[in-house]
Amino acid sequence: MPIQKTDAIVIRSYPFGEHHKIIIFYTSDFGKVRTAAYGVRGPKSRFGGSLELLNHGTLVFSERPNKDLRTVQEFDLIDAFDGVKEDFERTTYGCYLAELVNAIESDQTANRGVFRLLQHGFDGLSRVDDIALLARGFELKLLDIAGFAPQLSQCVACSSQPSGAALRFSTRLGGLLCENCEHHDSSAPQLARGSCELMKYLRTCDLARLDRVQASKLNHRQLRLALSRFISYHTELTLKSLELIEDLN
Ligand SMILES: [Zn+2]
Repeated sequence: MPIQKTDAIVIRSYPFGEHHKIIIFYTSDFGKVRTAAYGVRGPKSRFGGSLELLNHGTLVFSERPNKDLRTVQEFDLIDAFDGVKEDFERTTYGCYLAELVNAIESDQTANRGVFRLLQHGFDGLSRVDDIALLARGFELKLLDIAGFAPQLSQCVACSSQPSGAALRFSTRLGGLLCENCEHHDSSAPQLARGSCELMKYLRTCDLARLDRVQASKLNHRQLRLALSRFISYHTELTLKSLELIEDLN
């Protein structure tokens, strides 16, 4: 029974039988890993509360041949991101970021970029004021890492540098359409020039320093609509926590 040890973040958990939980981790060395934590819901659980959603720690797990489900042996907590969890709205956004990684990443494909992005995302969530803008930055960075990066620097139809006051963001074609090409996808949502520039900035910015950026209500609305369509298209999922955030708004 091989034993593995790695840095890990809890991205999903749900009950399994009376006393156990299925826990999905995103790990730095093995990507997404599905595990069973036996006895975790019992009163004398040796894990205590360490396996809560969004927690970061050192995971030791065992694997059995031909079984997808691993077993949690130990989990030593490093960071519970208390700055996120003491606020309901920040927690909801944290759950959304975790759900997004769970939806986009496939099992057992290691990607340290995704692990670092989750850490930076949760770290930023406890510091910045505009957490919706942070979520948009996280979405763009995750899409880039996962290979779904939208084309933002040139028109997806004619490759020209898009000019004009408003452009369209086509999910189907994978990025911006210039004014001359908007007939290729006339149902694509519009993005004002400022929203396009903001999108480009968010893709490369440091998530913990977002407080230097001012985004208008229009920027927020346009980015949320364009990116939520783009993500639903690529994940073929309706993200539950995104719906909850929509309700909060
Ligand atoms: Zn064009």
